[in-house]
Parts: sequence; C-alpha cells; structure tokens
Amino acid sequence: MQLARPDLFRQQAFINGEWCEADSQQRYQIANPADGSVLGSVPNMSTTDARQAITAAEKAQPAWRALSAKERSTVLRRWHALMLAHQDDLALIMTAEQGKPLAEARGEIGYAASFIEWFAEEAKRVYGDIIPGHQADKRILVQKEPVGVTAAITPWNFPAAMITRKAAPALAAGCAMVVKPAPQTPYSALALAALAVEAGLPAGLFSVLTADADQAIEIGNELCSNPVVRKLSFTGSTAVGSQLMRQCAPSLKKLSLELGGNAPFIVFDDADLDAAVEGAMISKFRNAGQTCVCANRIYVQDAVYDAFAAKLCAAVSQLKVGNGLEEGISTGPLINTAALNKVQQHLQDASDKGAKLLLGGKPHSLGGNFFEPTVLSEVNASMQVAREETFGPLAPLFRFSDEADVIAQANDTEFGLAAYFYANNLNRVFRVAEALEYGMVGINTGLISTEVAPFGGMKASGLGREGSKYGIDEYVEIKYLCLGGI
Ligand code: ADP
Repeated sequence: MQLARPDLFRQQAFINGEWCEADSQQRYQIANPADGSVLGSVPNMSTTDARQAITAAEKAQPAWRALSAKERSTVLRRWHALMLAHQDDLALIMTAEQGKPLAEARGEIGYAASFIEWFAEEAKRVYGDIIPGHQADKRILVQKEPVGVTAAITPWNFPAAMITRKAAPALAAGCAMVVKPAPQTPYSALALAALAVEAGLPAGLFSVLTADADQAIEIGNELCSNPVVRKLSFTGSTAVGSQLMRQCAPSLKKLSLELGGNAPFIVFDDADLDAAVEGAMISKFRNAGQTCVCANRIYVQDAVYDAFAAKLCAAVSQLKVGNGLEEGISTGPLINTAALNKVQQHLQDASDKGAKLLLGGKPHSLGGNFFEPTVLSEVNASMQVAREETFGPLAPLFRFSDEADVIAQANDTEFGLAAYFYANNLNRVFRVAEALEYGMVGINTGLISTEVAPFGGMKASGLGREGSKYGIDEYVEIKYLCLGGI
C-alpha cells in the first residue's frame, strides 16, 4: 500500500489518546479479502482494555461537555477537513481491508466525512423549549444534555461511515464514545482516530478497541454491562442486535440499532425501465451487494418483466469483477468464504425450487472470495432469497401482476429497513409509498443514503435514526426544569 501518509496505517489500538497494545499482549492478523494476503496485525483486546477505554471516556467527557457547541464544532470541522485532505489514503486502506473498489471507497470516505461536517453544524442547534407553565407562579424550561459515555459496535461493510455516523453526533452533543470496529476492518477505524488526534480531539473522547470475532463478544459484554456506558449504538445483524439489547437490559441503556434488511425493489409497468435498471444496479450491486439497504427481492410487473430482465442482464454483464485496487473494477470480492457460501446456498435453493439462471451463477474464475454477478428469474416466495438477506451480487427477479399483491409480498418480512419502487402514476406513487412498512423508501431512485436524511428501520430492522436533524436526538437526554414561586 503506497500511502502519502504512511502514519495513517496504524497497527495499534487507541485508548485515552495513546496508541497501545492489548493488556494481554495478544494480536491477530488482518487479511486482504481480494487475495488473502496478510496486511498486518492489530491488538486483540479484551474486557480489561474495554474498561480502560470506558474509564478514560468517563474522565474526559465532563470537560468536553462543558465546552460551547461552537468549540466542539471547530474540532469536528477540522476532523472533517482532514478526512477529505487524506481521502485517497483512507480509501486505499479501506479497499485493502474491505475489498470494495477504490472509487467506492473514496466515495465512502466522502460520505463518512459528511456526517462529521453535518453534526459539527447540528451541534449548535440542540435547542430546548420554554413551555407555558401550568400554574401562574411556574415556568417550565426544557433543555437537552449529552447522555454521557457512549459505545459503538460497527460492521465491516462500511468501515468508516458506520463509525462517523455514530461518533459525530455523539461528540457534537458532548458525549464520549468507545468504538469497537468490526474484526475484519480495524485499520479504517484507527486511521480515523489518527486524524481525530490531529484535529485536536482531547484524549479519551474517542477510543478504538480492536478485537477478533471471539474477543469482540467479550468486549461487547463489557460495553453492554458497564454502568458508566449510558448508550450503545450498534450496526450489524438482527440476531446480534437483539442479543445486545438483552445484554443492555439490566442496566437499561439507551440503544440505537441499525440491523438487517430484506429490501424489496418493485418495478411497476408504468416505470421508466432504463431508470429502473440503473437504480437496481446501484441498489443491488454496490459494494458487491453487501449493504443492509441492498435490493434483496426485485419484483417486476408482468407486462415489463421480460424487457426489464433483458436490460438488467445487459447492464450486469458490463460489471467488471476484480481486485478493487485495480483500475475500472466495479465489483470487488466478498468479505470472506462464509459470505460466498451464503450466496451459493441461496442460488442453489432457488434453482432447486425452479428459478431460472439468466446470468452468472458461480464463483468467479478469479477464485478466492470473488463471485460472478448473477441474475435469477422466476423466483418466488418459497425460496430462501425471499426471506433472508443474501448480502452478495445475486439479483432475484420475482414476477407479479397486481399492486395490492406486490405490496403484501413486499411487507411480508420481519424486516423494515429500505424499500424501492419505480412508477410514474402519481396516485400509485403515494399509495405504494404509504403502504410500504419501511423506514426508508426510494421512489424512482436506487440511492437513498445521505447525511441530511434520517437513516433507520422499522420492525426487526432496528431502533432509532442516524444522520439528519434527528440523529443527534439519540445522544441527548431531555431535562425539564420547573421553576416555582415566581
Ligand atoms: P456480520 O455478520 O455482518 O459481521 P454481525 O452482527 O455479526 O454482522 O457483526 C457486526 C458487529 O458486531 C461486528 O463488529 C462484530 O464483531 C460485532 N459482534 C458480533 N457478535 C457480537 C456479540 N455477541 N457481542 C458483541 N459484538 C458482537
């Protein structure tokens, strides 16, 4: 990895403003998912280290909270500027550990930085209220205060953005945050910490605990049970999210959970088909299909089914699979063998139950974790792809004829994160948008993520919203002051 700033590639964890080893002195290795080569190693931390980070956060938070919003904002703005100044290096680090094409990694760094900019601005707008009193001698004031020490557990699919989306509102509000990044992608998190130091963020406010999958569970236990931590924000699978919720129950922590999805993508017969194909490509194949808002079930109305399938196959056949560091690559490797196996299993199950293979359908000739972008037709509700997130480059096409029926099918899932549909009839647009039980609905677009809008899900897709003016609410307590005897 040729970095302009080699010191952004950190191989130690970051606690209380110090680069450090695990208390146990153990380390574990990080591999590049494109070729399995070892990138380096990081400390494999445990409960003792987590406690240290929490204690440091507890110490540092009161002084940070006491600063004016503008002072906190200034630090965040510098952090944002530094991320953009080092966008290329951060993107290289990300592609090396995560696999996504370099252009997508650069895009994610811009997206990740945008949360810091946004919440640097929002820090100054954490307004309270004055409520007309209920008695003549009383005055009622409402103010918002930081919740205190917070923790974040994040996934590997967006190694930078899932951290800044939590840390930026937390820090803006006056909280401290201890982050446990995904075992596979610690380097992006550590590079963010290096830039936070440069931005002037005081020690203890942002710590990064690196850990492999087993130690992540130990650290998770501590973050959930330690009474000093007042809030946990998690992005990951529904199973782990619900387990963390149980673990947080005894100490009644506040929770934000951004969990799995099973996004429907509906193409009605009045849709602009070229636009729908473009949207499906972005929504389905971005990050090799490894995002929680990826289209998982593509429903196409009878009259346009064959035409859409043909256009989609034409577009998918243009995707270039390969190492994300190489020029012109649109689809990188999957994160690991387990991810590859899941795609194959969904494919096999669908094929066994009668789906037809239109394109792709097997591990890529490059070997390793690469899989061919795949399109299946005649998929139906009996198949595994209808119920579970595939998290890979597999586009299953379902056929439907009736609007009410497709809405029922789209909602027939425990999940409720993102949904998409393409239609032009105005009445239909409102009818369908309002009937979909999802936190986010893309209408005639396949790309919905932005720092200015509230990201989050309903049902088993989680609790709370990230980004937008609502995002900072997750990190403040509402306090009401009642003044009497006036
Ligand atoms: P994925 O399957 O995409 O890796 P997970 O939900 O398993 O999704 O992981 C998301 C994050 O949650 C990672 O940082 C992982 O280390 C962490 N994690 C997984 N299991 C636990 C657990 N039992 N306790 C705490 N953190 C966990």
